[in-house]
Amino acid sequence: MTTTYAYAATDAQSKLAPFEFQRRDLREHDVQLEVLFCGVCHSDLHQARNEWKNTIFPVVPGHEIVGRVTKVGPQASKYKVGDLVGVGCLVDSCRTCASCQEGLEQYCENGFVGTYNGNDRLTGAVTYGGYSTQLVVDEDFVLRVPANLDPAGVAPLLCAGITLYSPLRTWGAGPGKKVGIVGLGGLGHMGVKLAHAMGAHVVLFTTSPSKIEDAKRLGAHEVVISKNQAEMDAHVNSFDLIVNTVAAQHDLNPFINLLKRDGTLTLVGAPEHDHPSPQVFNLIMKRRRLAGSLIGGIAETQEMLDFCGKHGITSDIEMIPMQKINEAYERMLKSDVKYRFVIDLDSLRK
Ligand code: NAP
Ligand code: ZN
Ligand code: ZN
Repeated sequence: MTTTYAYAATDAQSKLAPFEFQRRDLREHDVQLEVLFCGVCHSDLHQARNEWKNTIFPVVPGHEIVGRVTKVGPQASKYKVGDLVGVGCLVDSCRTCASCQEGLEQYCENGFVGTYNGNDRLTGAVTYGGYSTQLVVDEDFVLRVPANLDPAGVAPLLCAGITLYSPLRTWGAGPGKKVGIVGLGGLGHMGVKLAHAMGAHVVLFTTSPSKIEDAKRLGAHEVVISKNQAEMDAHVNSFDLIVNTVAAQHDLNPFINLLKRDGTLTLVGAPEHDHPSPQVFNLIMKRRRLAGSLIGGIAETQEMLDFCGKHGITSDIEMIPMQKINEAYERMLKSDVKYRFVIDLDSLRK
């Protein structure tokens, strides 16, 4: 067992605070890593405040993890001590169902094991995430980090990056396709960068006029203020795909109206309260589709990291010490983050 220092929420109302626990001894195929950096995903906040009504307290959030391998189990062969590696939202799955067999572990029909707020498949122990100094995880759920990328900027790729990469690939973002990204936060800014690198025409929808210049710098060809009706009307019936990352309940009709025939609006934002059902005729008349997408499987996550390595893509980050996490959550709620907080775990080792 390894003594691990972390931050946890003990109930939905209280702030995150220091928390100490033991990581398990290594199993045959486990690797242990010293966590260097962990991104702060809006899902961490939803979960710490029990907004999805399934949090097991105490909860140690964090699923955008980059670390250095410090130990490997006797049968583990994929990584060696010293390797720079990543861990995302998944640490295990049944590995035998149809989805797992297809490399879509995030849709495991027997339930994947989350990096935090999950239950270990052998012992049932609650999993604790990357707001911690150490992690122990099966090597099959560990990713290689491209050597040319800044490790802190890689951390957010493990959730924000793959959550946008997967739908962009699934719905064919690329040259000749007009792709919209709704919301310029952690997920949205990765969507802009990735869709641009895939060769699509990228339009960013934001509620924050102050983000227009940033969106263009990040790779958006056009920026639309979604509250401005005239700007929205200029794009009616024109999108192949719109990926919606917004973390709050809102009306989907204004975005569905912008899809061309057979276009798709894919929801990745997971707000506490459901969006109102959109108008049926808006979907019927142009065979438009409303879809959802959950992170990505392990193979696709590695593919995304390699794609980012090839294109020199990382997240734009603001580094914080662990002690500033509660402040970071409040700022995230005000959309005041450019564009992902990343925790430097050295702040817990001092
Ligand atoms: P974030 O950094 O807080 O960004 C969300 C963005 O949504 C904000 O920057 C803002 O963009 C926009 N927004 C926020 N509140 C809004 C409101 N009331 N009305 C309109 N726009 C609003 O959050 P994130 O980490 O990117 O996560 C976004 C959502 O995705 C969360 O719900 C998270 O749980 C979910 N998520 C889902 C998956 C998945 O697999 N499907 C994976 C990770 C996260 P503008 O200022 O540009 O308007
Ligand atoms: Zn996440
Ligand atoms: Zn499975």
